[in-house]
Amino acid sequence: MQIISTQTLILGSGAAGLNAAVSLKRLGVDDLIVLTEGLQMGTSINTGSDKQTYYKLSLCDESDSPELMAQSYFAGGSMHGDLALVESAGSVRGFMNLVTLGVPFPFDSYGRYIGYKTDHDPFRRATSVGPYTSREMCRALIAQIPKLNIRVEESWTAIEIQPTSSGGAVLAVNAKGELAAFEYQYLVFAVGGPAGLYKTSVYPVQQTGAIGLALRAGAAAEGLPESQFGLASVSPRWNVSGTYMQVVPRFVSAAVDSQGNPVEPLREFLPDYYADKTRMFSDIFRKGYQWPFDSGKVPDGSSMIDLYVYRETVEKGKKVFLDFRSNAVGFSFDLLDSEAREYLEKSGATQATPLERLQKMNPGAYNLYRDFGVDLALQPLEIALCAQHNNGGLAVNTWYESSINRLFAAGEVAGTHGVKRPGGSALNAGQVGSLRAAQKIKRRLETTPSTPSVQDYSNMEDFWTQWFEKSLSAPKTWQEERDEFQSRMSAFGAAIRKKDELKAAVADAKSQYERILKFGCRFDPSVPHAADAASNVQLCFAHWVYLESILFALESGVGSRGSALILAPERDADNVEKVPEDVSFREKVLQTKWNPVSQQVENAWIPRRPIPQKETWFESDWAKFRDGSVFEE
Ligand SMILES: Cc1cc2nc3c(=O)[nH]c(=O)nc-3n(C[C@H](O)[C@H](O)[C@H](O)COP(=O)(O)OP(=O)(O)OC[C@H]3O[C@@H](n4cnc5c(N)ncnc54)[C@H](O)[C@@H]3O)c2cc1C
Repeated sequence: MQIISTQTLILGSGAAGLNAAVSLKRLGVDDLIVLTEGLQMGTSINTGSDKQTYYKLSLCDESDSPELMAQSYFAGGSMHGDLALVESAGSVRGFMNLVTLGVPFPFDSYGRYIGYKTDHDPFRRATSVGPYTSREMCRALIAQIPKLNIRVEESWTAIEIQPTSSGGAVLAVNAKGELAAFEYQYLVFAVGGPAGLYKTSVYPVQQTGAIGLALRAGAAAEGLPESQFGLASVSPRWNVSGTYMQVVPRFVSAAVDSQGNPVEPLREFLPDYYADKTRMFSDIFRKGYQWPFDSGKVPDGSSMIDLYVYRETVEKGKKVFLDFRSNAVGFSFDLLDSEAREYLEKSGATQATPLERLQKMNPGAYNLYRDFGVDLALQPLEIALCAQHNNGGLAVNTWYESSINRLFAAGEVAGTHGVKRPGGSALNAGQVGSLRAAQKIKRRLETTPSTPSVQDYSNMEDFWTQWFEKSLSAPKTWQEERDEFQSRMSAFGAAIRKKDELKAAVADAKSQYERILKFGCRFDPSVPHAADAASNVQLCFAHWVYLESILFALESGVGSRGSALILAPERDADNVEKVPEDVSFREKVLQTKWNPVSQQVENAWIPRRPIPQKETWFESDWAKFRDGSVFEE
């Protein structure tokens, strides 16, 4: 097996991994490799939304400050205060770096970087370059690769991490099924969100995720049960937020056969659930800017729309579509509440059909689907309640180092957000975290240079050679195995959760992982699926750990919070069976860790760290900056 050594290895080339590489190079750390499935892979370069948001300190509102921004983060609950302050304080540098690299964030005639309010945002901190903010960020960062002479190894899939006292190695497999060990002193783990865990998902198909590699290596995680779910079209995968909902489309559904083809005419279903039309139309309208499913908006609020879509799709097994071609039965502008009606009137969007209103208010939103081959003027759009983002991830300190020495985590795989996060803070966190990791690595290389001891990776090589061998005659194909754990996660670990069913799901998850380890996953060796098959090991492991953490949270009595609705056995008068939130848990963070000795997943609530109250004082802080002690606090 080939062994490739480097001082700093960056695993993943999304917006976070790329910024780690660029930052390290600029800091003078030359010996590095970006190891990735591909520069065109991952969420950042393949996703977007109608106005993809970047959150940062406000540069157009004189009232804002890092401390106030940290409070907004902290208010989401179960987020550490020191990380809230770090992500606020670092946001301007992260943002301005992207501006300098050419990302066209808008400014006004005086050069002020204008902003708008996103959710949980009192100070117009949000900005956007349009539907593809994260793609533009990646493109600007990728343009630095030749300029900074950054070595990139593409078409490799990492399948195991083996940490050692002097660093470690990432074992990867390429399309030919060849193995290589990438040996490092420092690792920036930037593999993105756990997209491959879910069947019903708006993550782009180019993202699978690899948090399971670090979890299997014994890294601690935080906040794993906290994710975001919301309504999205399934093909193409795209959030139906903003204007798509503000124009008040029709929600229709139909039963389907085993091939997924409708076997009955499409029929409007929301009137079955809503007695009050004003409430129904206004809830649909508000879904536009209240996009993520929010258990706090159940039963009074717009998230009832998500819940009803879930009931149609999951409980009744139907397909649900948005139809923009005609109004819902009984629709009238007079029936909208005053906020929705005035918004549409001011926008000049009082046309006869949702389609015409969409074309008037946001022609780009209509064109986007047409570019994907879906003409909303001719056909309805299939939607579902989809997984979109994991607020939790690996536990990190304020320099984004994980519980494993020398393993740093940045981007979505770092679990820095709490229960709720302001829209756009994922992109900010990735830029700040990757810079912090780069700064700390640079400092450690300077202050504690080390020569890696010679390591033997033959145990990993032997394991995987045998695993691929037995996979050729495994009882199930890699697709069947993946389908099984993805279906389990979408059924039991997504937006709607039930305690009793979760217990069985956890047991099934564990036994599937043991089966995959023991027997492998069958794949066709003539096509490049070795990496897909091998990835099932870390993915299946991760889904087991996630389900364990979700079950533990439920059994602790957290109740419904964020994007997770916990169902009680009985339905109430509103036909909703919600377990209410115990808000005392917002002051705690759930830590989850696999113990390789006991072979158990261990969970514990820890008190969250407060927002640091330390006053700055230029002379004394400058001294600490000069002598480098800022890096040690
Ligand atoms: C539909 C949608 C809309 C969103 N809108 C917003 C928004 O408006 N604002 C916001 O802030 N956030 C938004 N997000 C979230 C945000 O886009 C992501 O959190 C962010 O882009 C993740 O960046 P990343 O660098 O951490 O990971 P990614 O961009 O996913 O990159 C991960 C990298 O790791 C590589 N990788 C993964 N596993 C392996 C492996 N085993 N071996 C080798 N390489 C591997 C991948 O190939 C890729 O290069 C949205 C997400 C979605 C899905």
